[in-house]
Amino acid sequence: SSVANKIAAGEVVERPASIVKELVENSIDGQSSFIEVYVENGGKDKIEVVDNGIGITSKEISLAFKRHATSKIQSENDLDGINSLGFRGEALPSIAAVSKVEVLSKTAYEDTGVKFKLEGGINEEILPAPANEGTRFLVNDLFFNTPARKKFLKTTATELGYITDIIGRFVLSNPDISFKLYHNDRRLLSSSGNGSLKQAIADVLGAATAENTLKVNSKSEKIDIQGYVVKPSITKSNRSGQFIFINNRIIKSKLLTKAIEDGYKTLLPQHRYPIAVLKLWLPPNIIDVNVHPSKQEVKFDNERTIYQCLKAAIDSALMDKPLVTE
Ligand code: ADP
Ligand code: MG
Repeated sequence: SSVANKIAAGEVVERPASIVKELVENSIDGQSSFIEVYVENGGKDKIEVVDNGIGITSKEISLAFKRHATSKIQSENDLDGINSLGFRGEALPSIAAVSKVEVLSKTAYEDTGVKFKLEGGINEEILPAPANEGTRFLVNDLFFNTPARKKFLKTTATELGYITDIIGRFVLSNPDISFKLYHNDRRLLSSSGNGSLKQAIADVLGAATAENTLKVNSKSEKIDIQGYVVKPSITKSNRSGQFIFINNRIIKSKLLTKAIEDGYKTLLPQHRYPIAVLKLWLPPNIIDVNVHPSKQEVKFDNERTIYQCLKAAIDSALMDKPLVTE
């Protein structure tokens, strides 16, 4: 029902950035190799996501907006799939319930594309329309029918900041996809999609940062840690340069943050906010997935072991190669 959808929307759609996140995840799940995001007024007026993925057929497009409709395989306790975990089949109906949506999509199996429109989740309109293969997803007038929630949106700069952060994380977790982010027609971010994590770091954090990285590479039975730490000559005044992914999903973990920072402290007791992009790969069954999926906080069964492995990986990355600046 439309009430149920509006309630679900409260969970999924907190702000423009949450819509961007859901739409881009769908584009990634749809095997896109390029994804462009256009936003206006911090996403409050318009969010547009264009991809070159598999598309949605004219038969399935209406169903995609029904609650719990998903074309994706369900697997419980699956942190590999945690990227697309969360709200199975809830994103599109939730987004549609609180905005004006227009989708243009085409698959390889159909000659013509399809255009699909919804306002506040109702007045469905579906028409054949010429389209490129892939999906163009337009979300206008967020919260036009829930003014109380619209009032809680922050300034354009703040909302845009959240969106930029999200796209940055997607670039780092998907170096093989080319992303572009535009705000009011100005390009804010662009990634090459050439598959290199170091290039992705350059795209998100700047070339100077990428050039001053040390490789982290630590494989063990329990955990595989890959990525880069940045030499202490480059600093930040907060933790915004810290990116931790588990099974390619961005997470927050006080424990892992501490492991990284303690790793630096072994050599550099004064160094406060290291910049690091780290990908941890571990068996899904040791991660507590009961933590709410919209929160990025993650818990582990064997916290101590993971802390030690990560700290050791940082230690050795920093020590193996001399820290003297070039
Ligand atoms: P979920 O992603 O959990 O399946 P969503 O509500 O986000 O649920 O999406 C519903 C369905 O719509 C997806 O399962 C997928 O089949 C289809 N879909 C949405 N966006 C895209 C896209 N960009 N490319 C291909 N298919 C898409
Ligand atoms: Mg989805």
